[in-house]
Amino acid sequence: MSTSPRTLADDSRCPCGSGDTLGACCGPILRQERRAGTAEALMRSRYTAFATGDIEHLLRTWHPHERPTRSDLESTLTDDARWLRLDIRATSGGGPFDDERTVEFVAIARTARGRQEQHEISRFVREGGAWLYVDGDV
Ligand SMILES: [Zn+2]
Repeated sequence: MSTSPRTLADDSRCPCGSGDTLGACCGPILRQERRAGTAEALMRSRYTAFATGDIEHLLRTWHPHERPTRSDLESTLTDDARWLRLDIRATSGGGPFDDERTVEFVAIARTARGRQEQHEISRFVREGGAWLYVDGDV
């Protein structure tokens, strides 16, 4: 598959379902114009990266200890899933100075095999001011 992301206009609805436009939500994070301020914002930007096929953003925001190889990641994305919706169920962790957080979400996609729901509790850590995805329990 092509590794160049599907481009969406900044004034289109953000795929993560925040209700904001892409330009006011995940767009600047995917373009590295700003960092995700919270684990949830990073989670949303990663969902948008899945939805638009932005492999670079997924790799960049994956903790180096857990990061898959590019080819492994590409093979999981060739499933031609159409990501329909993201529901953030819960976020946990301490206060604003806590550097570890979990985000529970359900992501819904339509694939060749029908409707798929991914329910995951993802772990995030903040290193050097940047939130990173570590791994998740499905
Ligand atoms: Zn968004």
